[in-house]
Amino acid sequence: MLSLEEKLHDAAELMQQAQRIVVLTGAGISTESGIPDFRSPGSPWEKNPPTSYRDFLEKPEARQCYWQTRSNLSTQVRMAQPNAAHRALVELERKGKLSGIITQNFDGLHQDAGNNPEHIVELHGTSRFAGCTLCGKRSSMDVLQQRIDAGEVDPRCDECGGLLKPATILFGQRVPDAELARAKQLTEACDLFLVVGSSLKVIPAATLPRLALNRNVPLILINLQPTTLDAAADVVISEKAGVVLPAIVEQM
Ligand code: NAD
Repeated sequence: MLSLEEKLHDAAELMQQAQRIVVLTGAGISTESGIPDFRSPGSPWEKNPPTSYRDFLEKPEARQCYWQTRSNLSTQVRMAQPNAAHRALVELERKGKLSGIITQNFDGLHQDAGNNPEHIVELHGTSRFAGCTLCGKRSSMDVLQQRIDAGEVDPRCDECGGLLKPATILFGQRVPDAELARAKQLTEACDLFLVVGSSLKVIPAATLPRLALNRNVPLILINLQPTTLDAAADVVISEKAGVVLPAIVEQM
């Protein structure tokens, strides 16, 4: 078995040789910024299972529950600052090695860290905006949150009367075709695929590293818990992203 130092060295060497690295990030990259992920032991989901998109659209009581349980998470996301792992990806971009970040996160921390927004694909949307479920119009999330906090139970779009919610993707909601197409395009063109902080249990994001593997592209996984792709990866590092990612980028 390789030591941590050897794994860091191998990862740095592979990344040094690559020219078009694509990074898939999940909730695990932001836990060190104070935003809990959903699948680690003790996560908020153990108490409150997620609201599905269908329930949100069809059941007023599901919407009420959604807004109640979301308020904690939205405060954590509002207060969060990028951590050392986010900053390491900015450094990777500065080195000219990064062709894109595909993120499952809606927290906007890659943009806050300083990565070029044009290189970021937000597969699961963003909690920085509100969106109408009927006409798709985007509006201010702060204003929507103020309406909720003021006691409004079922806020509606002022254009079309559709239901409002954060512009994120709920369970059972389709990932926008354009975002998925961009993510696939980046993956098809990359020469190294790096996963940081994702359980790889959410489809379609979890299919992307397989696409890369099908082209014999090196795969590096940084995740605290094991994933189904560990056996197929070139390097697996089960340590905190905020510790190992800066160490790898520094060694490159
Ligand atoms: P997940 O919760 O399924 O998995 C996160 C993984 O990260 C876990 O396997 C865990 O072991 C690992 N992890 C936790 N802390 C880590 C650290 N410091 N370093 C390395 N690994 C760490 O997350 P997911 O696969 O992204 O899927 C959950 C869904 O929930 C996502 O689709 C996302 O949309 C949403 N989500 C987003 C946020 C956010 O925006 N920050 C937070 C929670 C959930």
